[in-house]
Amino acid sequence: MYTIASVLQILSSGHYFLSDSSQAISELVYDSRKIRDVKESVFFAIKSSRDGHQFIPDAYEKGIRSFVISDSDFSILPYPDANFIWVDDTLKALQTLAAFHRKQFTIPVIGITGSNGKTIVKEWLHQLLSSEYNVYQSPKSYNSQLGVALSVWNLQTDHTLAIIEAGISRPGEMEALQQMIDPSIGVLTNLGTAHMEGFISKNDKLIEKWQLFKNAAQILFSSSYVPDAKSIQNRFTWGTKEADDFLILNISTEHGESKVTARYRQEHIDFVIPFQDRASIENAITCIIVMIQLGYDFSVIQERIRGLRPLEMRLQLKKGKNNCSIIDDSYSNDLASLQIALDFLNQQNQHTQKSLILSGFVDAKSTDKIMDKLIRLLNNQLLKRVVLIGSSLFDIMSAINSEVLCYESTAELIADLPRINFSNEAILIKGARKFHLEEVSQQLVEKSHDTVMEINLKAIESNLIQYRSLLRKDVKLMAMVKAFSYGSGSFEVANVLQFNKLDYLTVAFVDEGVELRKAGVTLPIMVLSPHEGTFDDVLSYRLEPEIYSKRMLNAFLQFITDRQIKGYPIHIKLDTGMHRLGFMANELDNALITLLKRPQIKVASVFSHLVASADTAQKEFTAQQIQEFKMLAGKLEFSLGYPFLKHICNTTGIVNWPDAQMDMVRLGIGLYGIDLSDNGLHLELVSVLKTTISQIKQLNAAETVGYDRKGVLKRDSRIATVKIGYADGYDRRLGNGLGKMMIAGQIVPTIGNVCMDMCMLDITDITANEGDEVIVFPDLIQASKDIGTIPYELLVGISSRVKRVYFYE
Ligand SMILES: *Cc1c(COP(=O)(O)O)cnc(C)c1O
Repeated sequence: MYTIASVLQILSSGHYFLSDSSQAISELVYDSRKIRDVKESVFFAIKSSRDGHQFIPDAYEKGIRSFVISDSDFSILPYPDANFIWVDDTLKALQTLAAFHRKQFTIPVIGITGSNGKTIVKEWLHQLLSSEYNVYQSPKSYNSQLGVALSVWNLQTDHTLAIIEAGISRPGEMEALQQMIDPSIGVLTNLGTAHMEGFISKNDKLIEKWQLFKNAAQILFSSSYVPDAKSIQNRFTWGTKEADDFLILNISTEHGESKVTARYRQEHIDFVIPFQDRASIENAITCIIVMIQLGYDFSVIQERIRGLRPLEMRLQLKKGKNNCSIIDDSYSNDLASLQIALDFLNQQNQHTQKSLILSGFVDAKSTDKIMDKLIRLLNNQLLKRVVLIGSSLFDIMSAINSEVLCYESTAELIADLPRINFSNEAILIKGARKFHLEEVSQQLVEKSHDTVMEINLKAIESNLIQYRSLLRKDVKLMAMVKAFSYGSGSFEVANVLQFNKLDYLTVAFVDEGVELRKAGVTLPIMVLSPHEGTFDDVLSYRLEPEIYSKRMLNAFLQFITDRQIKGYPIHIKLDTGMHRLGFMANELDNALITLLKRPQIKVASVFSHLVASADTAQKEFTAQQIQEFKMLAGKLEFSLGYPFLKHICNTTGIVNWPDAQMDMVRLGIGLYGIDLSDNGLHLELVSVLKTTISQIKQLNAAETVGYDRKGVLKRDSRIATVKIGYADGYDRRLGNGLGKMMIAGQIVPTIGNVCMDMCMLDITDITANEGDEVIVFPDLIQASKDIGTIPYELLVGISSRVKRVYFYE
């Protein structure tokens, strides 16, 4: 149990002001939007893309009374009843506290690092070891400088083993992670090309990662990733080399299973792994050797490895029946991951009513302390209804402020679903694996096809951070969510942007804006192409029209004049070279100014659009556009006599023309993870279009595939039919080998013409099975080049019949 006084001592800071030194501390908070238990929280004002000091008033307002800050001139006068500790670096202070906490434990701590597979190995080990241990695992992929600190902090005295993931993206980061995790057992999963940024070579990455294992009594890894494995002390290796401790003699796969024959201490043992892809086999072997190290009998290891199940580890947002949204996180349950899921529920505002379906915790023992925290956590949310499953939760029923329903088992709840009648609400389903809440989710979710577009909302946040870091001080950010957010969803995406405090959203048409408003989006919304017939909705939903001609301005003025409105915000579009919409220089005359000065309206911004901001050959033209825009906007501002926002940069403009960021920028395609500026941004892919193989055929040379006999086989071939065609937005020009898809990491070409609902792939050179998952665009930019278009067209062309599934990873 910590108090703010003990925190002060651990941070050994000489600069502090404590008004109540006995305040208990159990929660570390760094984001004022994510506060659960104000009573026992300390807020760390961390400087990342935003300066956390800015959010101190908000945190204070919400009841936080302890702060760790770094700005020496921060005025604490408005907060006389709060505690303040000053440190040089608030992130380091958080890490120091975590490292101190870690030192209080002598239990085995497994530290996992590697390029891929960390989270899977962690989750599997949890599955494999929890009969004997009360396992603590770091939540989700909390593996960064901040994430690890928060993970380690959550270790509790009743845990008997901890599994913590460490992820690094830049050299120099592992040292801090080592001090916090200090693993007694080190595990390297693998070493690939993921997260290459900042590292020159594979070897640099290895050396960096190895720092995690500084004090580890055992280090477990595959010798194939480590050049000089033999020189490493305390090693326990697996692989195909004679010197490996766990020597792989043979791997055979069949019917979705793999049989691994290995030799360990002169003994030959077989393991059946219920997967056949390489990554899963590798991850399962890693789990096997961890179990060997922990002293498990082979018979137990064999049985449990055979029972491994694939993990649907991601929190998913799906469209539910009866106009519900289902947030499905039904594979693990503990306080930390429940908090993450509740944060996500809060982000999504499309329904005013929110419900939670919660199973008991199986891992951590349900101590009174945990139950108290759970009650406080739930009562902090505005939940309409809480459904509890499992008798271990029944005790808290009376303490919860929402309507509560209790069931002994998942089956009982499923039987009662028709009576509960969920409708028009967001439902978070959160449960431990053994409760099988995925069965509840299946009941509530609308059926989906085999072709889905997966959208990673967390990647949008991460791309946002990248672009924010490129913005000059005080430049506002407008996100383009037109065309269904470039194909990736409307309110789902907009709610995430709103949560991340953007300044403006922009849609193409009024009905897109209406949909966002109905889904609880309150940010200002600009509409690029409003037309007269929709002005009613413009006003009722507080949408801000782009005005691009005198005709339109007149029409809008006339419309609002009848309604006695004053100062309605509008946006003036200037044409500086696009020659699409907008006022030309010679139209900015006195007559226009007179209209713009009418009191019914107020010019919120004036903007123009760059024609070729990505094209270095057109630099002069772009410079000229910017120049002209500044001149015209300046003139307008002078004539109107009041200031407005000026903006011209789209995504590539932000990067290539930083001097033209002005008051605001309009971020589009970059937000969705597509970098057309080639300047070393590390964007994350937001959407992945997936389909499946319906059938596989063995055909002879000279036979043909598909319509018009265009797919002529030059050799005996295996052909797979997949469930995506041009009606789904898979461009017909991608037929006949121009399109490439990916199956289990292997690239295969299309063959023959693309059909309306299907197309065919030549899989002769790879192994694949019916039902396998297929990634439709392994490289979207390349695919667009191959058929002479741009990624924008392919993205927004993906038809609305392709289900969007959102997740937040
Ligand atoms: C679509 C659009 C943008 C965004 O362009 P990106 O290249 O996707 O960043 C910016 N401004 C206007 C007016 C647009 O129509």
